Amino acid sequence: MQSEYNEIKVTPRILMGPGPSDVDPRVLRAMATPLVGHLDPEFLEIMNESMDMLRRLFQTNNVLTIPISATGSAGMEAAFCNVIEEGDEALICVNGVFGQRMTDVAERCRAKLTLIEADWGKIIPPEKVKSVIDKQKFKVVAIVHAETSTGALQPLEEIGRMVREHDSLFLVDTVTSLAGVPVKVDEWLIDICYSGTQKCLSCPPGLSPITFNERAMNAIRNRKSKVQSWYLDMNMIERYWGSERFYHHTAPISMIYAFHEALRIIHEEGLENRFKRHRLNASALWAGLEAMGMKLLAQEGYRAPMLTSVGIPEGIVDLNVRKKLLGNYGIELGGSLGELKGKAWRVGLMGHSSTKRNVLFFLNALASILSEEGYKIERGLGIDAANQIFNSIS
Ligand SMILES: *Cc1c(COP(=O)(O)O)cnc(C)c1O
Repeated sequence: MQSEYNEIKVTPRILMGPGPSDVDPRVLRAMATPLVGHLDPEFLEIMNESMDMLRRLFQTNNVLTIPISATGSAGMEAAFCNVIEEGDEALICVNGVFGQRMTDVAERCRAKLTLIEADWGKIIPPEKVKSVIDKQKFKVVAIVHAETSTGALQPLEEIGRMVREHDSLFLVDTVTSLAGVPVKVDEWLIDICYSGTQKCLSCPPGLSPITFNERAMNAIRNRKSKVQSWYLDMNMIERYWGSERFYHHTAPISMIYAFHEALRIIHEEGLENRFKRHRLNASALWAGLEAMGMKLLAQEGYRAPMLTSVGIPEGIVDLNVRKKLLGNYGIELGGSLGELKGKAWRVGLMGHSSTKRNVLFFLNALASILSEEGYKIERGLGIDAANQIFNSIS
């Protein structure tokens, strides 16, 4: 009998928003691998290899380096709820939506919050952190590496050293940055670091890679109260991913297959090559947009190559342009959140989506749509500027 519901069919898209990014077909094929049990010896080997490849990506020797079975926000939740107990002092740096989300999560863990804020698009100056932690002791200092709401890329090394000197835990969100720019967990003295799969790892959404060092694990082991989340309690999750293989929850088998293949692709390309590719494509995009008279919103010198916020020109209606981009070109672009809503677009060049072809196709499409919408622009300027960057390299 014919089903009254249609089989899923979607129009192919070019994903150039703030995530998810495009996925290599190899990752999708891996997801179609038949299921085995979550304690099957062959699956345990896939878990071991995944942890190994993830340690290389995070540049860490931390034993507890695993994917949480849920999206990036669950990594954020796991990071905070494991180390924070009621009344603990937490310092949170906020310069966009994801820093704000951290304050919400930490507050629900009953932390006592202190905030350092910066304008959206700007980084948090390390001196500002120093002046606050010199005066008061915090259990945790938290910051976002690449703030996806603005495209600002936060330098971490100096802050990491200061936080360690003050004997606090350094908690960092690398959801957008991991696999697009270097994330050196050990060298930068990061104690707790989480990410997501659907940004520069180019794997579908559904997992949150996370790593805890011994200092963080000691804080968890020395808690006075139980971790309030049963699902995200690292004491128990550690026993499943570690040698005990103690059942906690059923691992999302197909997602782990995808994760394993995405990590293989990353290490085949090599981290340095991957970072270089992200930088090159971003430089070309920035040159193109600026040549078209558009304004990049993140602080110069601190722009994340995987996510660009660009101001919407006067008189141009955000949604009209994004509808045409999607309908006529299949390009998905991000609108903006919070303070920048309606004022900026977010262009993602993440992982598998970060290609020369996407940069040129997008600049061409945007120029054409903007001139239809009445923005005075000389055709070809953006493409020429981008090509100059590409040609200067090859
Ligand atoms: C996307 C994102 C998150 C949230 O991840 P989800 O997978 O959407 O839950 C957290 N932090 C940053 C910086 C992000 O870009």
